[in-house]
Amino acid sequence: MTLADQPPAAALVFQTLLAQGPLTRAEAGRRTGLSAGAVTKATAPLLSDGWITELSTPAPKRPTGRPATLIAVRPERARFIGVKVTADELIGVLADLTAKPLVARRAALDSRDVDSVVLAIARLVERLRAAADAGRSGGVRGEDVHSIGVTISGDVDGQTGVVQYSPFLDWRRVALARLVEAATGTPTVIENDVRALTVTEQWFGAGAGLDSFALITVGAGIGCGLSIGGRVVSGAHGVSGEVGHLPVGGGERTCTCGNTGCVEAVASTHAITDQARQATGNPELTMADAVRLAHSGDEAVRAVFSRAGHALGLAIASVANLIGPERIIISGEGVATYDLFAEQIRETFAARAFGAAAECDLLLRPLPFEEWARGGAAVAAQRLFAPVR
Ligand SMILES: [Zn+2]
Repeated sequence: MTLADQPPAAALVFQTLLAQGPLTRAEAGRRTGLSAGAVTKATAPLLSDGWITELSTPAPKRPTGRPATLIAVRPERARFIGVKVTADELIGVLADLTAKPLVARRAALDSRDVDSVVLAIARLVERLRAAADAGRSGGVRGEDVHSIGVTISGDVDGQTGVVQYSPFLDWRRVALARLVEAATGTPTVIENDVRALTVTEQWFGAGAGLDSFALITVGAGIGCGLSIGGRVVSGAHGVSGEVGHLPVGGGERTCTCGNTGCVEAVASTHAITDQARQATGNPELTMADAVRLAHSGDEAVRAVFSRAGHALGLAIASVANLIGPERIIISGEGVATYDLFAEQIRETFAARAFGAAAECDLLLRPLPFEEWARGGAAVAAQRLFAPVR
């Protein structure tokens, strides 16, 4: 029996254990809203098929009686490979059922052409399998990989496995899941990279146990993943959380999407570098130079970061006002320079978040690229019990 064949109650208990376990059956019942009998019924097939286990250490004795046994997911029950595709590099991990990376590898991309990228993904998957076989990390063998999850920025349809549009690779309507599956011989799912990272945060990170949260990524683009009522939002057309194109940045700057005033046109890494070049009159200036100048007190460059922080603060306040999440996690490669605009983000957010929405917890969380690859493994694992329709 596979997880996909399990009734919804079993899938619910399994997901709760994955994100919040180990738990007693009684606590699993409280957190899922299921009765004690329903939890026992749901866990029986999961136990017999090895997806979960009873832990030998009993939970602390309740004052009234018997020790309660803890139940937990068995991470070694299934293995997944997650691959994050960036403009010039692939980052891959071999992970267990809890998306914990056991082996990580990177590969440079010398071409953005579809066939070359698919071939590079297949080679990286081979290397991850070989490394797993050689190192036998935690007893993993390469052939035990259940499925592959590939994540990529842009308009990605996870249900059909088609990349509708990826601006940085200049891809349109690429059936990537099918191509990777054919090249590797392993079932493959694909997902938008920010949405995949949101799934990881929902299960294993700063979003675990929260009813709603948003993840804002700051870097080459400004992305946003939303989890509402315990579900990561995909959007009716596969597009959601495109906060990078909220028109809050004023009319001076034109965005890569062709409109003016998008957050991304003011606060992306490229936009900050571009504005710092204008402010200093140095066309060779890099992002690292801009950060150094701002840290050394250059007022003009500091103003660039402050403007970026203001635009991000407005976008984050808009997210808070729209969905009222319990927490907003701010991450991405751009957070390395977060100290330069953190104050402005918080100030603008506090001024613009309406009423109780301002109580939303803003959390800075630097996540390395391996964490993004882990998102692919988490999405692959998710399809175990939420199969593609
Ligand atoms: Zn735009």
